[in-house]
Amino acid sequence: MSEAQTLEVILAHSAGTCFGVQGAIDIAEQNRKPILGPLVHNNKTVSDLAAQGIPILERYTGLEKLKGEGLKEVIITAHGYPKELKEKLKESGIKFHDATCPVLLKWVYSKIEYFEGQGYHVVIVGNPDHAEIIASRTYGQKTHVVYSEEEIDQLPANLEKVVAICQTTITRDKFEHLVNYMRKTKYPHLKAVDTRCKPVKNQQEAVEMLAKWVDAMIIIGGFNSSNTTNLARLAKKFLPNTTYHVDSADMIKLEWLDGVHNLGLGAGTSTPKAQIKEVQQRIADIYPGKILFRQESREGEILDANFTPRDEF
Ligand code: SF4
Repeated sequence: MSEAQTLEVILAHSAGTCFGVQGAIDIAEQNRKPILGPLVHNNKTVSDLAAQGIPILERYTGLEKLKGEGLKEVIITAHGYPKELKEKLKESGIKFHDATCPVLLKWVYSKIEYFEGQGYHVVIVGNPDHAEIIASRTYGQKTHVVYSEEEIDQLPANLEKVVAICQTTITRDKFEHLVNYMRKTKYPHLKAVDTRCKPVKNQQEAVEMLAKWVDAMIIIGGFNSSNTTNLARLAKKFLPNTTYHVDSADMIKLEWLDGVHNLGLGAGTSTPKAQIKEVQQRIADIYPGKILFRQESREGEILDANFTPRDEF
């Protein structure tokens, strides 16, 4: 690589913290009470909160332990919390500040309740071990969770009214694939409602748009973040050998930029904007040639990005 080369670093049109994550951070910072689990799936955000003196507890800490430690107030994370555990907290007099994303509270849970009220069995397509799904499934009486064809094979065959919804962060491809499989093998009249949230849809679309034409992609965000991991998976469909998922700027290696003229950047909904800037700065620090920072618009135009590396201040 030489100083004569130019690299364009193009940020996806939608990247970084969504309103649900920002709202959760605001609730945590305003109330400063112990949090039941990682507030969002981003290590930097969680360690910043811990560094402010806010304790991060086990997600499903038992009531006895909470009471034993004399805790009177806790914070529920952005992913939601099982209905019965919320009720138990209330009954035992422990106040909770609910940082559950409004998309779950006002949209997903009410959809589950609505469809059950209409006599449907609700199948949630999502990771059964993810905190969002562990919580969401408790808002219905007749919910099933599937994340693979094998799990669909285990569903009862004789259900009449069935509706499929999905984890807010799943990819459209995965949801559609499993819905089609269910229609083919179990429920030909299955109703399907895409409950991915808008920020996730926007970011998936933005990463796909970029990955189709750039030489390499860096996806920024926690390895435990479902939506960030899915963004990396999406980018890999187009760039199987030159997609990199990082959760901190110092992971980026100069050799990744070898032969790259256009580098795309994507970031999950739990990735702070500051972390995106750290990645841009790291690239500016290690790349020997000229760098142009850009952002792709929703319409596909390439605009000047709102980022100036330190050297140019
Ligand atoms: S990704 Fe969607 S569901 Fe999750 S916190 Fe953000 S807006 Fe809410």
